[in-house]
Amino acid sequence: MGRKERENEWIYKTTAKKRFGLTDNQIRLAIEAGLVEAKQVRNPNYSSGPPATILKVEDIVKNLDRIAAFPRLSDRERAARRVYADRTRARKGLAFWCPRCGEYVRPLRGSRMFEAYYVKAASEDEARRALLTAHYRHAHTEYERAVGELREKRYRRYEQLREEGYDFELAWQIVDEELGNLEQEVAS
Ligand SMILES: [Zn+2]
Repeated sequence: MGRKERENEWIYKTTAKKRFGLTDNQIRLAIEAGLVEAKQVRNPNYSSGPPATILKVEDIVKNLDRIAAFPRLSDRERAARRVYADRTRARKGLAFWCPRCGEYVRPLRGSRMFEAYYVKAASEDEARRALLTAHYRHAHTEYERAVGELREKRYRRYEQLREEGYDFELAWQIVDEELGNLEQEVAS
């Protein structure tokens, strides 16, 4: 591409952000300060979507130092980031290693108990207990079912063996050999 062509080049704001390492806030301030000419055009992805912004490359190149010196985040973005960091900290504060399956358990997004805890409507204890209950219900239901099924199967086999004349101890020993021991079978 020749120099002349390049000077008349317009690029989408998303492209400009990537190519020049700029943020929305810096570009917004640059347009407001009259450093970069901008135009609204039809959205390239959805004709019914919001208009897209295109920017004059020449202006960006010429004023890049000044544009890059603008704050990368707006006050609102900074505030939102602070809230996010604070929520993440609170989320991690409630997390624990499940004593049963060893999984790291954290409140899920949209967890009502977490929201209550975050605005101090629920204590840390209440929130953690609710979290543990929810984890058990979600993660261990399958385990419970598997244990239940195996236990039943083992017992049926045990009864059968007793009817065949095996004594208590030997019957269970055969059950273990045939069907495996509960923990080993279910954990695998
Ligand atoms: Zn668990």
